[in-house]
Amino acid sequence: MSLSIPVATLGTPRIGLKRELKFALESYWAGKSDQAALLDTARALRAANWARQAKRGVTIMPSNDFSFYDQVLDTSLMVGAIPAIYGDKADLDTYFAMARGAQGATETCAHGHVHTTGHGVPAQEMTKWFDTNYHYMVPEFTPDQAFRLTSLKPVEEFIEAKTLGHHTRPVLVGPVTFLTLGKGVEHPVRLIDRLLPVYVDLLKKLADAGADWVQIDEPVLALDGSVDVAAALQKTYARFATEVPELKIMVASYFGDLNENLYVATSLPVAGLHIDLVRAPEQLDAVLDAAPKDLTLSLGVIDGRNIWRANLPAILDRIAPAVKRGNIQIAPSCSLLHTPIDLELETGLDADVKSWLAFSVQKQSELVILARALNEGRDSVKAELDASAQAAAARAASPKVHSAAVRARLAAVTPDQAQRAQPFAARAALQRQAFALPAFPTTTIGSFPQTSEVRKARSDHGKGTIDDAQYERFLKDETERAIRWQEEIGLDVLVHGEFERNDMVQYFGEQLSGFTFTKHGWVQSYGSRCVRPPVLYGDVARPAPMTVAWWQYAQSLTDRPVKGMLTGPVTILNWSFVRDDQPRWESCRQIALAIRDEVSDLEAAGAKMIQIDEAALREGLPLHRSDWAHYLDWAVESFRLCASGVRNETQIHTHMCYSEFNDIMDAVAAMDADVISIETSRSKMELLDVFKTTKYPNEIGPGVYDIHSPRVPEVSEMTDLLSLARERLSDAQIWINPDCGLKTRKWDEVKPALVNMVAAAKALREPV
Ligand code: GLN
Ligand code: ZN
Repeated sequence: MSLSIPVATLGTPRIGLKRELKFALESYWAGKSDQAALLDTARALRAANWARQAKRGVTIMPSNDFSFYDQVLDTSLMVGAIPAIYGDKADLDTYFAMARGAQGATETCAHGHVHTTGHGVPAQEMTKWFDTNYHYMVPEFTPDQAFRLTSLKPVEEFIEAKTLGHHTRPVLVGPVTFLTLGKGVEHPVRLIDRLLPVYVDLLKKLADAGADWVQIDEPVLALDGSVDVAAALQKTYARFATEVPELKIMVASYFGDLNENLYVATSLPVAGLHIDLVRAPEQLDAVLDAAPKDLTLSLGVIDGRNIWRANLPAILDRIAPAVKRGNIQIAPSCSLLHTPIDLELETGLDADVKSWLAFSVQKQSELVILARALNEGRDSVKAELDASAQAAAARAASPKVHSAAVRARLAAVTPDQAQRAQPFAARAALQRQAFALPAFPTTTIGSFPQTSEVRKARSDHGKGTIDDAQYERFLKDETERAIRWQEEIGLDVLVHGEFERNDMVQYFGEQLSGFTFTKHGWVQSYGSRCVRPPVLYGDVARPAPMTVAWWQYAQSLTDRPVKGMLTGPVTILNWSFVRDDQPRWESCRQIALAIRDEVSDLEAAGAKMIQIDEAALREGLPLHRSDWAHYLDWAVESFRLCASGVRNETQIHTHMCYSEFNDIMDAVAAMDADVISIETSRSKMELLDVFKTTKYPNEIGPGVYDIHSPRVPEVSEMTDLLSLARERLSDAQIWINPDCGLKTRKWDEVKPALVNMVAAAKALREPV
């Protein structure tokens, strides 16, 4: 079979079929295995990845799509963008210190507070990669930033593949995207002149090693256009063309349309341009018009962000004009990094639902079928094309997807259902009276450490080696211990600890109709952390209460208020693989009504505080500014729809995993939660910025403990942060809490940190 139209994957999941990378990393970090073992695992994973793609018939395989933690962090290390606090050795331990922070020695003082001594360093800031749920480490630059080539990872991995018999197309994070995503200087992209020699050097080394094509990812192309970025792109690719003319460059745009960047993208002096035709199918004509004939177009036609099986004949029809033009490649919309690896591992799925899905390796096959249909004629893959069209038709007609009752309830929603009875000020007065909390009340975000015992009990229960009663006993004991301990250290508002929850979205999805779950559908969230996003395939309803019994049990153990703990509709939506057969807002409203039912049941059971987490509201923001208002409208409306069915005295909390809401402050305020907790400790400056222009009207807990790092913050660090907060907020508004849930931490990190946090609150209440 000789393919003239090639098939590229752009990038593949790196974590391993059985999450081998995760376990190897965690074992290395815990000091249980050495670096050689970690490197061996990584090498085996890369080899398996290439072999899998080759077997499926992929003709352009990537290399350097592997990463121990994050490809942006790889790039920081590679170009020597290593902040001084991490030293200047570009080795793996420096890399992990940048990723995770490094704990210095600790000692406990006479007051029982834990102090960090020695050279503890915080982790770099981490944030969402465009609008995905993948997190990258934010590069940090200084005004006198110098760059140098400090790692040859892309070259080494290219050679490694070559040794295994694979000629690959190395992938690099583009220099313009890399700079644009960084911080520390005002216009990081203006550092481009200093950065380019490093890339040129690297590209030459890749060419020397035998590379003929290189894929350079520039997802900034899908953002709103900017003069700086356009100029930097032009300069960059002109320089590559003159200095490394022997290398062909495929510039990859993805996550949306080129929009204002259409002209700059199609006029770069490069050999190829990849475009996302899943998120932006309508851009094909414009690109065909603008692209010179000799520019190879890589057509991103298989969804790299979702798990739906494609309707292949429909795709072939859609790309016919591009095929006629010629000089094309077939590819997923973006790297397959964001999809689970292999659907075949899923043996427990409903057969119909399974027949509508495709994971990374199935998508590779879809790409190959498309290319064969083009190269050898549709008849050569007739059975495959028919099966694909039939699956699409079956899904569109299935009663498993469409519920008349859900539709009817949605149609009957009235505007007052999304409105609390009284405005915040009136509610706050009632709530203050009811709770009589001290100034600067302390609380946590919900989860406590998911220890190996907790995970083992869950997995034993799943396997049936412990029965329901034993599992429940175990969870009750954990919950009771957590409640007792929170009382003991003096927290004001308690949580039950979420020991019964596998994940804040999955736990709800499992109890809602319209969702299904995979067993092995892991995707990387950050570093070694993977999530298994629920698959939302049908109309959503809540058949029975989901959290009431656990809340009741926890509240029965204490006189202090225990928060009911729910995940909000926008977050459930944004962290799931969602339907592509109806707009997102419609799916979101269905979920909102289901959560509203749960809020009512919690209140009826006696819950006086109910937290509805909207961790992912911000990351759902569309990449183009002009689409924001519409998204925020329906997102806020969905939150209000689920939160507004309660009495004035009932305090609604929400939580968001970030602090950058300068630009969405109005929307966050419009959610009208009585209390919001946010993440702030990793980016102190933003905390100041946020409240500069707009006052946040309701109560707010700026996170004072960075839970992404094992480091224990000192009391003084927390009081310093709180002083910043007090410059912008009134004391009556301020709550004290960690940045986020504590499930990923260990008890011996959490305990001293929260003891310190309570001490910080006391220090504020009784200034010396
Ligand atoms: N209640 C959740 C927890 O503590 C919130 C986590 C989150 O928003 N990411 O785990
Ligand atoms: Zn959070």
